[in-house]
Order: sequence, then C-alpha cells, then structure tokens
Amino acid sequence: MTNADLFDRIKIIESSHPDNLMARHFDPGYFQTLSAPVQTRLRKIIASGVENPDSSMGAYAMDPADYDTFAPLLDPMIRDFHRINGAIKQPHDWNTSAHSCDLGAIDPRLKDVSMRGRVARNVASFPLPGAMTKQHRIDFETRAAAAFSQLAQNPDFGGQYLSITPGSPNEIDATEYNKRVAAHQMFKDMSNDRYLNVAGISADWPHGRGMYVSDKQDFLVWVGEEDHLRIMAMQTGGNLNALFDRLHAGLTILENLLPPFAMSDKYGAIASCPSNLGAGMRASLHMKLPDATKGGTDIANLTAHAKTLGLAVRGAGGEHSDAGSDGLVDISPSARLGVSEMEIMRRLYDGAAALWALETKTT
Ligand code: ADP
Ligand code: MG
Repeated sequence: MTNADLFDRIKIIESSHPDNLMARHFDPGYFQTLSAPVQTRLRKIIASGVENPDSSMGAYAMDPADYDTFAPLLDPMIRDFHRINGAIKQPHDWNTSAHSCDLGAIDPRLKDVSMRGRVARNVASFPLPGAMTKQHRIDFETRAAAAFSQLAQNPDFGGQYLSITPGSPNEIDATEYNKRVAAHQMFKDMSNDRYLNVAGISADWPHGRGMYVSDKQDFLVWVGEEDHLRIMAMQTGGNLNALFDRLHAGLTILENLLPPFAMSDKYGAIASCPSNLGAGMRASLHMKLPDATKGGTDIANLTAHAKTLGLAVRGAGGEHSDAGSDGLVDISPSARLGVSEMEIMRRLYDGAAALWALETKTT
C-alpha cells in the first residue's frame, strides 16, 4: 500500500469508526517526517487498526522504546484512552489495609463472585510479542519455566507449569488445554484472533505458550499471550483485599526470579497494547446481572451505563464474547494508567455497588 493509499484508508476509518483511536490521532504530516525504515516500523504498529477498523485502540507496540520513538502518535492515543490531560505519572500503591473492599458488605449475595486481578508485564530484554521470532518465544518460555520451577518450591505458591509448545517437557494435551480454557484459567487459541494476527502477536502459535498454575488454582501466570506475562490472582469470594494481597505477593516473588521488567516512570508497566500501560492491571468481577442484561441477551445498555462509571463490560468468555444466558458479565475499571493498584480496587468495588443497585433497582 502506498503512503497515499494508507492515508486515505485511515481517513475513511476515522469517519466510519470514530472510536478507532489510531485513526482519530493519526497525522499524515507526522508520518511523512519519518525516514522510510521508521515508517515501516510505524506501519507494523498500526497495522491491526488499519486492517480492523472496529479496533478500539488500533495500535500495538513492538518494542518498549516505541512509546518514546512514536510518542507523537501514541501519546495522544494514550491520553485519549486513559482520559489524561495533564502530566502523566504512574503511582504504585498496594497497601490494601487503607480500604476495606468486601463485596459481601454491598449485599450478602455478592459474597461468592468470581474475582480476578491480573497485571501485564514484559521483560526488557526481549522484543514485545508482536516482534518476537519463534526462537525468541521459545527462549522466553524456557527462561520463564526456570523461574516457575523456583516458584514451585515456595509453599504458598507451589504449582506446575503447563506448556502447549509441541514437544515441551511440560506439554499438556488438547483435552487438558480445553479444560483449562473452559475453567477461565488458560487463554484462548490466539490463532483465531484477527486483531492479534495482524499485529504478529499470535504468530508461531502455539510455540512458546503456556501457563503456571498454583496448586490452590488461585495464582496463574500466562506466558506468550498479548504480553510476555500476564500475572493473576483468581478467587471465588467477595474479599477484594485478599485477592489483591495474593496478586501482589506472587508478583513480588516472580519479579525477583525473572529478568527486569520493562517499566517507565511516565507510562508505568510497558505493555503491547497502550490500553494496558500503567498499573498494567485489569481487575474484574464475573457478576450475574440478568435484569440489567435482559437475561444476557443485551449488554449494550449495561455497557453504556457502566461506561459512565468508568467501567468496561465484557462477556463471560472474556474480550469480544457475549454475556452468559444467566446474565453473567465481566466488569472491570477501564483506567489503568495514572491510577494506582489500590485506586483500581476501589473503583471496582464502587462500580460493583453501582451496577448491583441498577440490577436490584435500589437506586
Ligand atoms: P484479560 O485481557 O484481562 O487477560 P480476557 O478478557 O482476555 O482478560 O479474559 C481472559 C479470561 O479470563 C477469560 O476466560 C475470561 O472469562 C476470564 N476472566 C476474566 N475475569 C474473570 C473473573 N472475574 N472470573 C473468572 N474468569 C474471568
Ligand atoms: Mg485479553
């Protein structure tokens, strides 16, 4: 595609899909100031949003340095998504004792929802997933598996690494993989994802992919999905403080077993997708909201309402899926950049209370 064709195409996307942030902020004038090889790099970064006009972000970084190199495009997109006007700075705060966020206090019926908190992390010494070669993916998995064999010695975090890399000593079969996906532990087959395919993030599937799972099934680490690592705690209950404490403890141990993570003072944890910068955290609840979703058939109204509360709604199977027939949806605060981990916990708690009030018509 010539530059002129690319510019035309993005212009059309800008009017047909106003929510595509890449198209909204793309400036042909800026693009033309770049040398040919740098233009090629930027084309790869925005390819997913060009090929998929319905993207909400429309760009994936290929290397941590891209956030500086391509700041004239990426910084406005980041500010737009995370709704930041002034200076960007990422606070970190894991002190859960400052707030009590027990969902059971909202309503005893919320005492056993499925809670999940995950952070995206990438190590500084490898390219981001969209630019990894097959060898990079295999080498990264080998390095991560070595860290997991140490983690497995820890009495609180003991568990096993399950790989889907063909021929891996930790390889699991298709039945076990499918079982783990159905249990919401393992990530889905990425080779079917048109956003990740264009970005190169799902390339070489399933090589270099796997998951660590604790014996208690409550601490999980994905290897080789959209980021090098997705580190998560998952529990059924209502005590968000306990969930966050568990995530923080596991994250701290892993940080010391792995090469340094790519972190920025400005953007916090570096992630493939600009939407995941900052705390790198998505903290979610699987809540049953049958009334607010008309029995799971319509999440549009709920999504619009949730948006005003700073919450995103996903289907029960994760991003781009539908609600369950019982109205089961995934709710999570959208902001990840410029907000601390504890602020995210509070927003999830307050958001859950507001959506529960909507469901039970107590507002
Ligand atoms: P993320 O991008 O944050 O990792 P996805 O939307 O890709 O999350 O979903 C990944 C998996 O995690 C899916 O199987 C989804 O259903 C599951 N999941 C997300 N939140 C929860 C939750 N609170 N309880 C149970 N499973 C969850
Ligand atoms: Mg995801």
